[in-house]
Amino acid sequence: MAAKTNNNIVVVFDFDKTIIDVDSDNWVVDELGFTALFDQLLPTMPWNSLMDLMMKELHDHGKTIEEIKQVLRRIPIHPRVIPAIKSAHALGCELRIVSDANTFFIETIVEHLGISEYFSEINTNPGLVDEQGRLKISPYHDFTKSSHGCSRCPPNMCKGLIIERIQASFSKEGSKTRMIYLGDGAGDYCPSLKLKAQDYMMPRKDFPVWDLISQNPTLVKAAVRDWTDGEAMESILMGIINDVISSDEEEEEEKDKILSSDHCKISVGIAHEPLLPLARQVPLKLVK
Ligand SMILES: [Mg+2]
Ligand SMILES: [Zn+2]
Repeated sequence: MAAKTNNNIVVVFDFDKTIIDVDSDNWVVDELGFTALFDQLLPTMPWNSLMDLMMKELHDHGKTIEEIKQVLRRIPIHPRVIPAIKSAHALGCELRIVSDANTFFIETIVEHLGISEYFSEINTNPGLVDEQGRLKISPYHDFTKSSHGCSRCPPNMCKGLIIERIQASFSKEGSKTRMIYLGDGAGDYCPSLKLKAQDYMMPRKDFPVWDLISQNPTLVKAAVRDWTDGEAMESILMGIINDVISSDEEEEEEKDKILSSDHCKISVGIAHEPLLPLARQVPLKLVK
């Protein structure tokens, strides 16, 4: 599953309304006819806890795991998103997913789309099928034991903390890594604040994260490039990756120039000794 990395760029994708064009939680609930119950219970508990309860309701009403999978396999996705993912991977980027959906939904979808091998890591809420054939969705961060301490984020997941962990793993490796983060939701705002000046934030235009960034743009250190749909996502993402690769190549060329001028000095130094006798023989000096 590990992606081949060679350009020091990590592209982090949100999943719902970023890779796929809808919210997978809403999609499953709506397609299986449980919207009213979902809407009724939403004000009473955290989203993640409600999704677990909805999966119990589906099971109690005889909806099978296979039916859930079938619904997930026809989830809408913009036709340019998969080419964008494949191109970013082909250019040597490492791709990761950070999502507040769950492992079962995401794995079912990316496997169906044939893109699971492009991602080196999927950070999301655990989703496991139990012996009774019921999907159990647990929080990524177990808030019954302790809070993750971020007031911006839902209790089950702070995406900003995940981004910080990814950043720390790269600084440990000592490589100069740039991150490109793509997202649409309010939960993608916290990570946008963790990005560094060399990074890129790609908020989906007119979606909650874009609104939050727009309220105070100076809070985001990364370069912000908004996008509207899969087509714009592809061209903007490719543009950023190509810019980064060519600016890094220029930097390498500069280094090479400095190195090769050093080589000249060194070779002159080495050549100096054997040249001495020649220099003595050169009559030009005498002519002058
Ligand atoms: Mg989203
Ligand atoms: Zn947070």
